[in-house]
Amino acid sequence: MQNLPLIQIDESKCTLCYACVRSCPTKAITTLSNSDKIVINHDRCISCGNCYISCGPKAISYQKSYDKLAKHLNSNKKSIAIVDPSIASEFPDILDYRNFVGMIRALGFDFVNEISFGADLVAIKYKELLDNFKGKYFITTSCPPVYEYIEKFQPNIIDSLAGIDSHMTATAKVMREIHGKTPVIVAITPCLAHKKEILRNKDLINEVIGFEELRTMFNNNNVYENSVEFSEFDQPIGFKGSLFPISEGILDAAGIDCSVSDSNIITREGPENFKKNISDFAICNEIKQNLNLYFCNGCIMGPCSSHRSSYLTNRSLQTNFYKKRVKLIDQKELQKNIDKFINLDFSRSFIVNDQRISPPAKDKIEKVLKLLGKETHD
Ligand code: SF4
Ligand code: SF4
Repeated sequence: MQNLPLIQIDESKCTLCYACVRSCPTKAITTLSNSDKIVINHDRCISCGNCYISCGPKAISYQKSYDKLAKHLNSNKKSIAIVDPSIASEFPDILDYRNFVGMIRALGFDFVNEISFGADLVAIKYKELLDNFKGKYFITTSCPPVYEYIEKFQPNIIDSLAGIDSHMTATAKVMREIHGKTPVIVAITPCLAHKKEILRNKDLINEVIGFEELRTMFNNNNVYENSVEFSEFDQPIGFKGSLFPISEGILDAAGIDCSVSDSNIITREGPENFKKNISDFAICNEIKQNLNLYFCNGCIMGPCSSHRSSYLTNRSLQTNFYKKRVKLIDQKELQKNIDKFINLDFSRSFIVNDQRISPPAKDKIEKVLKLLGKETHD
């Protein structure tokens, strides 16, 4: 993964429909001049996965981790799967989540943990940040394309990023605290950008696989729901962190006021207004609220999931999963675990990586206008 770019185009499948060019929020995809070839400028890419989703002929793919994962699982190191709570909307076909946990163990993992526990810890950090208001407003940093876009295209507001770990990273830090440096940690998520996020802290998470890859692994290894016994997630078990895949879920988990009248944070999601929301936050002095922002319509609609046909269905599956699980939570055990890990360092920093393109000089514009026979601006 480190050597090859995350997103690739197979020229032989490309029909030059330009859907990817139109869908890319950062203009990272272009055509070469005098050529019919589509190319990606990887420096400008924020790993949102929009091009992958929009390519009808499936000419665009992302780098898969099957070989690396097989190597890890065949090594003599212990292995830990940390699983995003959006499994609920990805695997509605698996009726009991305990079968799902059993299936992951059947692939060879020694431990199967919930990323929702890290989400619970991160939620507490957001509550502290918002409660400790000192006049400055923040943008949440759970969604990698959000902070990568700001690092590359709005570096002037980089200090507005909240500086709190993603729920995936927070969970991995808890795992390292429990199990030490040696075990292999593999995150299973719907987020393509998580594959890039792990490169920022190479000692923490060894591999990220998307839900689509997990499905393929189940099929290739003949692991089915009815071929495994029920199995519970390993401790520490998560609580309201199960709601994180819905964009407002972070606020619910943190006990942050979401009411229209009193809340000091606005949730926005989806690729359509993604850039506009960021630029408004950057330039509008009238905005006196924090911004809880996501590129996708919540992680339930992440690009590495195979069930993106109905937002409402996914959202409903996610809340039902939470409601089912919450009845099983041992609150005393939960609090004990939160007390044990809440003082780990979940802070993070961001680095300006300016990829903005300066507008062309006036004389160049005039030259082009002249070539087009438009020498006047009317
Ligand atoms: S992943 Fe997103 S940013 Fe990167 S090339 Fe595709 S559409 Fe553009
Ligand atoms: S969306 Fe796919 S087929 Fe269309 S131009 Fe892009 S890579 Fe080619």
